Amino acid sequence: MHPRDLSSHTAYEAGRGVEEVARELGLDPDSLVKLASNENPLGPSPAAVEAIRAHADRVHTYPKASHADLTAELAERWDLSANQVWLAAGGDGALDYLSRATLEPGDGVLVPEPGFAYYGMSARYHHGEVTTYPVSKAEEFEQRAEKILADYDGERIVYLTSPHNPTGSEVPLSEVEELAERTDDGTLIVVDEAYGEFSDRPSAVSLVETRDDVAVLRTFSKAYGLAGLRLGYALVPGSWADAYARVNTPFAASEIACRAGLAALDDAEHVERSIEVAHAARERMYERLDARTWESAGNFVLVEVGDASGVADELQERGVIVRDCTSFGLPECIRITCGTEEETRRAITECNEVLREAT
Ligand SMILES: *Cc1c(COP(=O)(O)O)cnc(C)c1O
Repeated sequence: MHPRDLSSHTAYEAGRGVEEVARELGLDPDSLVKLASNENPLGPSPAAVEAIRAHADRVHTYPKASHADLTAELAERWDLSANQVWLAAGGDGALDYLSRATLEPGDGVLVPEPGFAYYGMSARYHHGEVTTYPVSKAEEFEQRAEKILADYDGERIVYLTSPHNPTGSEVPLSEVEELAERTDDGTLIVVDEAYGEFSDRPSAVSLVETRDDVAVLRTFSKAYGLAGLRLGYALVPGSWADAYARVNTPFAASEIACRAGLAALDDAEHVERSIEVAHAARERMYERLDARTWESAGNFVLVEVGDASGVADELQERGVIVRDCTSFGLPECIRITCGTEEETRRAITECNEVLREAT
């Protein structure tokens, strides 16, 4: 017995964890600053932590009511009907549901390059064929319908990331609409807004209301600080929203995740503070890093450092973990997550020193 041919599949390369790096370098984990995975430096909302504790003794039951409650709450917030909210284990899980609901074997999926690795991974799991369109450094990572259409060939799904990981660029709503308009009737445009809370632009959810070919992805992993719980969702057009019942894994999100998600949604102050901290860190990095940066709408900044792998290693030895963007196809760039003021200062100081010593 052997698995199917997985030679075109690649493993997800996550940002390195504090425990892992500390063990390797023989350092105290508390002395490390981890700015590699766009996690919330403030941690989860205290209300979410409380909800997790409060529901710990109920995890022997299946999460039926909590799933329904969270779905209803999200539907109300986005002004959609409940069946248009597809809860999942992380935004990644929601991507799988979109793949399951739309892809026949051999269907094409068009993804940004550089871009979020899981779009292609999910497509391949579901026997889709992956092609890419460039989000080009030479063009300031600008994302426009016209450019994406140059690589479009009737694919079943076209992924847009706004704000885009790892560059921080955005897709204006008018461009999303133009793309949806100019692609085939059978093409779904998925707008990944995993970092949507950090952006000042309106969500593409307005297009989910008015069209049948635009879906939006959101997550609790970033601004809400619940990455470890695995909770995210897709917002899909009403006309085919009932497909969820046919493709979802039963009880798609856990009791604890749903309860914590509900509590986190209620804690507006924590989200607002998280956004403020990210905005301040972004500004600080643009101003103080002695390297080229790009304006970012997310909770991270892309930085051009020359030899990204060397600089990331050197920073790690100094206790600052950042994301080497070589695996994104940007071997000259690192991505630094917005930390607390103290963490961000330290990252900037160390980064500038590493860059000075390299020249
Ligand atoms: C983090 C991220 C997601 C979703 O992550 P989950 O933890 O699975 O919710 C989706 N898209 C992009 C671009 C991301 O960076």
